[in-house]
Amino acid sequence: MIDESSIEDSAVTVERRSPEDVFSLLANDVRIEILHALGETPDTSLSFSELQARVDVADSGNFNYHLEKLCGSFIRKDDDYELTHAGEQIIGAMLAGTYTADATIEPILLDWNCLLCGGAMTAEYFGERAHISCQTCGKGAVFPFPPGCLTQFDRSELPAAFARWLRQLVKRTIAGFCHVCAGRVDGALARLPGGTEANPKPSQAAFECQRCGGGMRFSGATLATFHPQVESFFFEHDLHLLAGHASRAWSRLDRFDSETLETDPPRLEMTFAHGGETLTAEIMPDATIRTVQRYATDS
Ligand SMILES: [Zn+2]
Ligand SMILES: [Zn+2]
Repeated sequence: MIDESSIEDSAVTVERRSPEDVFSLLANDVRIEILHALGETPDTSLSFSELQARVDVADSGNFNYHLEKLCGSFIRKDDDYELTHAGEQIIGAMLAGTYTADATIEPILLDWNCLLCGGAMTAEYFGERAHISCQTCGKGAVFPFPPGCLTQFDRSELPAAFARWLRQLVKRTIAGFCHVCAGRVDGALARLPGGTEANPKPSQAAFECQRCGGGMRFSGATLATFHPQVESFFFEHDLHLLAGHASRAWSRLDRFDSETLETDPPRLEMTFAHGGETLTAEIMPDATIRTVQRYATDS
């Protein structure tokens, strides 16, 4: 059993090495082969001889030289050898095609219309990004999607795959981790530029990474759908948030509204109504949800 008090009290030890030093280790075919060999069975550590049998290097001295170079960064050596977290990330990045693939998917027509202008919604892919957007006003979601994953889905499956991928990116962000570097992210409601005090532009939830400067921005409605009470409202009304981008579910609601309660600091209220029920979610300046209310709608 883990004693949480001892974890809190203990100092965190991190040994830092320069990225140049660490990544220069990978500029060698044998070392890449060694990482791939360990990546074939990521949950199993291998002995020296088992690992060498998977790598096409007959000279044990040469093999050992390259293996030792990777130990401490991409490989952990106990009695046996296994990938470190960084090693797993390198293998994952190679499989996802981040470094090696480039692809384009022509627009796929989706089964709902733009909530802003009624235009046709499409899913497409270029520049290593998925675009779920309106063909008329151009509004929508743009987000990175690993090119190496495109070939794992039929064209008809891709829109839902894009939506599921986006949902886990947002989930990770709301949980407080950067989707790029896993650094800490903190959220805040940020008003979109333009508008007036009387008629402000809507606010977005903005999460910025303290480490890499990356992050994500998404609407208050998207943020709200990750609250368990809101998620179950959609689920119980057969409005599936994973079947497509969340705006597909919103387009099927009887009523969907985003209201600015205050502008400085901003506070928002989302309203979702369907099948005789209304749900409201209040979003605070730090992009957290304070209250969710669900009630029967007067008719
Ligand atoms: Zn539109
Ligand atoms: Zn980051």
